[in-house]
Amino acid sequence: MVNKQLQMILRFLVCFLLSLLLSGHVAYADDSAELAQIASIQTIGDTDNTEALKRLLELKQKQTASTPVQVRLQTLKVLVDLYYDAGKIQSSTATINELVSLATAENDAAGMRIGQIMLVYQIIDHGKLQEGLSRLNAIQEALSPDTPVEVRLRLDSAFGTVHYLLGNFDSSLKYMLEALKLSDDMPSRKVQHRIRRLDAIAKLYINMKDPEKALATVEEALDISPLARAPKVLVSLSISQGIAYSMLNQNDKSIEAYKRALKVSRDAGMITNEVISLINISDHYLTLNEYKQAEIYARQGLQRSEELGDKQSIYIARVNLGFSLAGQGKMQQGVEMVNAVIHDMMESGQKSDAEGIIGELANTYERAGMYKDALATLRQQQKLSDELFRSDRSKAVASLQEQFNAGQRQKQIELLAKENALKDAEIRNHQLQQVITLLGALVTVMGGIFIFLLYRRVQRVNKQLREANTQLEFHAIHDPLTGLHNRRSFVELMNARVAQINADRREAREGNPDCLILLDIDHFKQINDTFGHAAGDTVLAEVAQRLRKAVRDTDRVLRWGGEEFLVYSPKSDPSQIAVLVERVLHSVGDTSITTNGHPIQVTMTAGFISLPFSTIPEEKLNWEKALQIADMALYLGKANGRNRAYGVTRVLVDADVAMPYFEEDLAAAVSRGIVELVEVMGPPKRDVSH
Ligand code: GH3
Ligand code: MG
Ligand code: MG
Repeated sequence: MVNKQLQMILRFLVCFLLSLLLSGHVAYADDSAELAQIASIQTIGDTDNTEALKRLLELKQKQTASTPVQVRLQTLKVLVDLYYDAGKIQSSTATINELVSLATAENDAAGMRIGQIMLVYQIIDHGKLQEGLSRLNAIQEALSPDTPVEVRLRLDSAFGTVHYLLGNFDSSLKYMLEALKLSDDMPSRKVQHRIRRLDAIAKLYINMKDPEKALATVEEALDISPLARAPKVLVSLSISQGIAYSMLNQNDKSIEAYKRALKVSRDAGMITNEVISLINISDHYLTLNEYKQAEIYARQGLQRSEELGDKQSIYIARVNLGFSLAGQGKMQQGVEMVNAVIHDMMESGQKSDAEGIIGELANTYERAGMYKDALATLRQQQKLSDELFRSDRSKAVASLQEQFNAGQRQKQIELLAKENALKDAEIRNHQLQQVITLLGALVTVMGGIFIFLLYRRVQRVNKQLREANTQLEFHAIHDPLTGLHNRRSFVELMNARVAQINADRREAREGNPDCLILLDIDHFKQINDTFGHAAGDTVLAEVAQRLRKAVRDTDRVLRWGGEEFLVYSPKSDPSQIAVLVERVLHSVGDTSITTNGHPIQVTMTAGFISLPFSTIPEEKLNWEKALQIADMALYLGKANGRNRAYGVTRVLVDADVAMPYFEEDLAAAVSRGIVELVEVMGPPKRDVSH
């Protein structure tokens, strides 16, 4: 509390100094009190925009031509922001014009520059980025060396914003960091300026697709001072956090941040931010396919944006509502709503925004399996985007858009052969991301919401791609019947291992080898013949389960072939391998497997070996060779009565002498004392059918 008061007093003081700086005139004695009053209203505005606006308007009412110019200029400057945050954009614009007129009439250079910079924001709000940039350049050139810090900071920030919208993120970052540095030299509200700059930088990082840095920057802002928790800036920081977490797929944190932004903007009467928060929340639920929640927030967003009277947010809220209804199966109602917005947008000339939504609509159809509608919608989108990017769009955007169109054309074909399209879709999505970055150029500061809308689309496509990829990957390396990894996955594992061998010290591996156990079900054909193929399948699935239970979590059980399995037990203690093998045989054979009411005792025969094998390095005896030996041991087990395992545990002669035996005759190798063989017995045979 005391701290806060102190800060206020300090701010009054520096504000007085600011007036000296800004005016270049000697301040009148009574300037300071009035400037202090404005500063205190500004502080109120950090927490309660409505109240601050009310008080500042009262103050302005009382001002006359005899009120010191600096006080009147300062009033107007603060008023611009308060109007803006209250969502009263027109009043804000009118106030900027008032500021420029007053500064011009009074020949106040700093005031004029600030007014001009504020007007640039209006220009870029209308998408005229190049014009905005050249105006800023003109202002820059006209600056004198004694230009106040406030002007330079505002100028750098404006440059940062234009470059950001142009997609020149590196330049943008440069200017924003410069502005950040200048905020330390600001005569007043130093901390607030610093926090605001950090907030802008966080947003930039988001657009640079670097959510981690964005989050770190937000944290930095929050750490500077409790002032960062003043509602106005907290809302903005929280929205950035929400987006960043959403990019990192940390959904709970994302929603939490958005909801904090929502609450704070409600409490502080910042309806614009409230609408942005509501729309982002509904967006986020849409990406999570939680359509009911999405609907709730879209409805609130719609209501509030109608109160605000902002056309753009009304559009987006309606679109979100439409998509959330479609997602809940109310396809017709949802699509009608979305189409109505598309129609309105087209009428008012917002073709590129409409185009984005049409694309989204196509996705919705596609998700619902309505491919014909999806295709028709894509055609509509393509036709529209052909018309687009002719007028005031930059060439770069146009060419990217063309790439995007090419991708979309491909998509039509791919729709028919959906499965194989993943890679192309990834490339296309990457292109789309680039387009979006540049489409940022078309977006008004407030309508930054549209970026999020497009973002959502990319995110959603990304998510689908991820899911589809994960599925494909899963199926590529898993066996559908048993759910076990398949042979291919083992080959991949072993290929990766070859690279690893060179990295590991050989001695370490020899002391702690991996174990390979090849297993084959005994007389499986009989099971099939007696009980049917389906019963055989059940047995296979059950055997797989039992094997999996019998081994460590770190061991891998694979379906090697029809009724053959492989247990891969990395870094297993050689003295324990026989115990492991015995456990495996018993896990399968101890209790019978029942299919169609018939209990069947299923036994297995196995061959096992360690890798590297005994003293022979893997370069000489690789995993394929080792498996071949295990297979020979298995065969020996079959020949000697089944339901048992043979392990080739040691080589007793020089590797070069032993190697030829591994090519063909294991029995001979054993009888000649080339290798040591151990036998592990399976469970006793019980009297069950087959
Ligand atoms: P042995 O004890 O010598 O291994 O005799 P076996 O009958 O188990 O061996 P064989 O290799 O002659 O027969 C294996 C049978 O497994 C042949 C094949 O039809 C059957 N099989 C392979 N894959 C599947 C499958 O996915 N499901 C079912 N039900 N049977 C399969
Ligand atoms: Mg077999
Ligand atoms: Mg068999």
